[in-house]
Amino acid sequence: MKLLDGRAMAADVGRGIVDEVERLAELGVTPTLAAVLPGADPAELASTRPLERAASQVGVVLRPHELPGRADGLAATLARLADDPAVHGVLVRGPLPEGMSSADVGTLIPPAKDVDGMSPASLGRLAANSPAFAPAAAAAVVEILIRGEIPLAGARACVIGRSPRVGQPVALLLLAEDATVTVCHSRTKDLTTVAHEADVLVAAVGRPRMVGAGFVRAGATVIDVGANVTDDGLVGDVDADAVSATAGALTPVPGGVGPVATMMLLRHTVAAARAAAQAG
Ligand code: NAP
Repeated sequence: MKLLDGRAMAADVGRGIVDEVERLAELGVTPTLAAVLPGADPAELASTRPLERAASQVGVVLRPHELPGRADGLAATLARLADDPAVHGVLVRGPLPEGMSSADVGTLIPPAKDVDGMSPASLGRLAANSPAFAPAAAAAVVEILIRGEIPLAGARACVIGRSPRVGQPVALLLLAEDATVTVCHSRTKDLTTVAHEADVLVAAVGRPRMVGAGFVRAGATVIDVGANVTDDGLVGDVDADAVSATAGALTPVPGGVGPVATMMLLRHTVAAARAAAQAG
């Protein structure tokens, strides 16, 4: 079985970002990503550390904006960042204000700065084949498949999970690569049978180790988007020990989708900075 090494792939993506950051520096542009952290949640603050490290490695400026309360100032902060020409990308991480969904927050981020595809407008653009930033985790899935030289055109792909943040954009990106895509969810009948037909199986469920050997056809590629914090540490949605005898290729957790997703955020930020420089 081939291990799809997300850390090595992320390092390679990072080298390409460094080159583009240098070209932008010649134009006097420093790509800048604002990370808005409502609630000042310690777990969320800790979860931005890998992003901080990766940003400093590639030369993207990361500007954290910690907000003391969930709702306090979130809309005003996002409005200010939307208008700030020195900020090229905006993302929001952490507990959102009561009654506010990720899509609600996304509407406060202009599509040109929506580097984590939070806005319903970004998802709509992806569906319409218009230029848009996909959510970083979804973009990472396809980046890994392409870098892993997994054939996608005409392949049968199955995505388990239909959230607007992961499952749906993954399905749209795979369709754009000419895969034949089936999207499964909690009401899917005979899930294991459907999954077992896939050449490429993407698990984005949020249930630790749910995808076992019975889901995986011999030789299939399995991408594990799951990032579940358990007593055993970070655990994926795939039971890696169970599927490794059957799968042809597999992403580990940790060290698979996560590091590549971080780099996708930075690549999107640099692309947003390039677009802003060309527009202005
Ligand atoms: P979510 O919003 O909770 O969506 C989970 C999806 O899984 C839903 O569509 C749900 O179906 C489906 N589902 C739940 N139980 C199922 C079951 N027993 N059988 C089949 N489908 C089932 O989660 P999410 O935000 O999409 O995240 C999914 C996973 O990706 C999580 O582990 C999350 O931590 C991880 N993630 C990782 C990254 C990264 O950078 N690595 C980034 C984002 C998310 P219904 O729609 O029918 O409810």
